[in-house]
Formats: sequence, structure tokens, C-alpha cells
Amino acid sequence: MGLDLPSRLEALIEAADQRRLQGPTGRFAPSPSGPLHLGNLRTALLAWLQARLSGGRFLLRHDDLDRPRQRPGAIESIEADLSWLGISWDGPPVRQSERTGLYASVLSALRRGGALYPCRCSRRMLADGAAPHGGWPLYPGTCRDREVGWGPVDGRLPSWRLRLEPGPLRWREEIGARGCLEAATEVGDVVLRRADGVLAYHLTSAVDDLLLAVTTVVRGADLWRSTAPQVAVSECLGRPFATTWHGPLWLDEAGERLAKRQGAPGLEPLRQEGLDAAGVIGRMAASLDLVPAGSRLSAVELLQDLNLSRLKAQLRRRI
Ligand code: GLU
Repeated sequence: MGLDLPSRLEALIEAADQRRLQGPTGRFAPSPSGPLHLGNLRTALLAWLQARLSGGRFLLRHDDLDRPRQRPGAIESIEADLSWLGISWDGPPVRQSERTGLYASVLSALRRGGALYPCRCSRRMLADGAAPHGGWPLYPGTCRDREVGWGPVDGRLPSWRLRLEPGPLRWREEIGARGCLEAATEVGDVVLRRADGVLAYHLTSAVDDLLLAVTTVVRGADLWRSTAPQVAVSECLGRPFATTWHGPLWLDEAGERLAKRQGAPGLEPLRQEGLDAAGVIGRMAASLDLVPAGSRLSAVELLQDLNLSRLKAQLRRRI
């Protein structure tokens, strides 16, 4: 579904089309909710390898819209850790907090085009009524066909949901399971703007990946399901979603995936063990069987050692 878009937005979408013709673009998009743990760093390394092996540029995007979860100094520590590892990015890092006008103009275009509807269901009502479905509860459609005003009621504004028509949402996945989820039964009408004004990751990430001309999105397998609503947003703007690589997650000794919230270790303990950047890159690459255990090499040496098909094959074996 393509919408009638304001000319400024059309121009940005067309500029991105032109950019894509010049070559591939990859990106790493951390949330600055704390220092990166080893799993995040390995994903950054994979995203960088994918972009550089494709001869493309590589962007760093800080997903810094969720203010309460943000930690002071996290952006600086993310940039310092990536640089220390030799993972270089092109151009100044993008900060989502500086692009809120853009997201607002996409939201109003979607709203004008009838792709969104206001919803007054509280999270509690939904938690009571909806069966959990993978990553998020499937919205039962309560407000979909109701007359729900846009203005405040008891001081609360509505949230805004994306109206998804039944049918497959498809994308090109090169590592994980085939990219396809059914919109009505597996995805549901997701919120793009919360009642408190917070913009959803599905909206901002899809808009950025499109307008920054990202051709391949490399991220952790935990975000595989999130691709479907992002495909829907991208298609509303008249373009297919990027190709995706949903790579393996780093598991701890108990088989649990690392989480920043639980203070999963970043680079500091490894530095204290005496490892330098070559040791850490070696350990990350060995964890994916890209090099023998105990190897020491720089990010650039790893790049020179690899090619895209070998990298993809190794990742597929681990999903
Ligand atoms: N900022 C999101 C996160 O750190 C990931 C975004 C993405 O790679 O699409 O979980």
C-alpha cells in the first residue's frame, strides 16, 4: 500500500533510492541503555563485516528515544568500544533523538492516509484479554472499527495503531527462518505511537532504515519477528524492507542470552584479563567458528580472511 506523502518526504525517499543505486549500506543500531555486552559487540562486528564485505558503507545509529532507559555516557562508551575494536563507521553517527520531526511527519502521513487508528485500550486490559504471541500480545482489534476520538479523555490521549490487512508480510531473510509472517494472525495491529507520545521502535527503525538507504539489516535473532511490522511501515511508504540477517545470540554458560539489564559483561572484564582488541576479535570470531580458538587478529585482518558466502554459511549453521 503506498500513501499520498508530503513532497518533502517523497524527496527523502527518492534521495534514498538514488543512494541505494550507489552501493550497499549496512548499519548497527544500539540502544544506549548501557555499555554494549559481548553479544551486542559481536552483532556490531557481524554488521560491519557484512557491510564491508559487500563493498558498502556502514552507519552507526543510536536508538536514543527511550529517555528513561538511557544511561548517561552510554553513547560515548558505545563509540569508544567500537573504535577500540577497529569497527569503523562512515559519517557522523545518527541519533534518533534528532529525527523526531521526521517521524512525526511520517506518522501524520500514515494517519491522513487511514493507515493508523486511535486506540484507547490500556496495557492492563490487553494483558488480561490477549494471548501472548511470540514477541508481543496479538492485539484483538477492540478499537479498530470503533469511533475513537483523537483528543484527550480523562487527560489521556489515544495510542495510534497500524491497521494491518490480513495477508503475508514478506521480507528477504538471508540467515534466519524464511521471512514471512501473517499480518492478522501472527502480527496484529501494532502501536506506532504510544499514548504518552513515545514513538515505537517499529516506526522509527523502519523509517530510518528506509531513509538512510540501508540495504541489509544485520541484528540479533531476537528481532526476527519485529521485522514484520517494519516491513508493513516500509510498504506504506512505498518501498520494500531491506534484506535481513538475523544472527545468533551470544548465550552465557547457563544457555541464557545476554541482557544489558542484567549487567551482562562488556569489554571491561576482558581487558582486565589482559586481552587486547586482537584477542577480543579473535574470541568473538572463534565463537562463530570463523577462526580457530585462541586466534588473535584485528577486525581488518578478519575481514581480509573472509568472504560473504563463508560468513553467511557459518551463521546459518548456528541458527
Ligand atoms: N536498537 C535496537 C536494540 O538495540 C535494535 C535495533 C535494530 O537493530 O533494528 O535492540
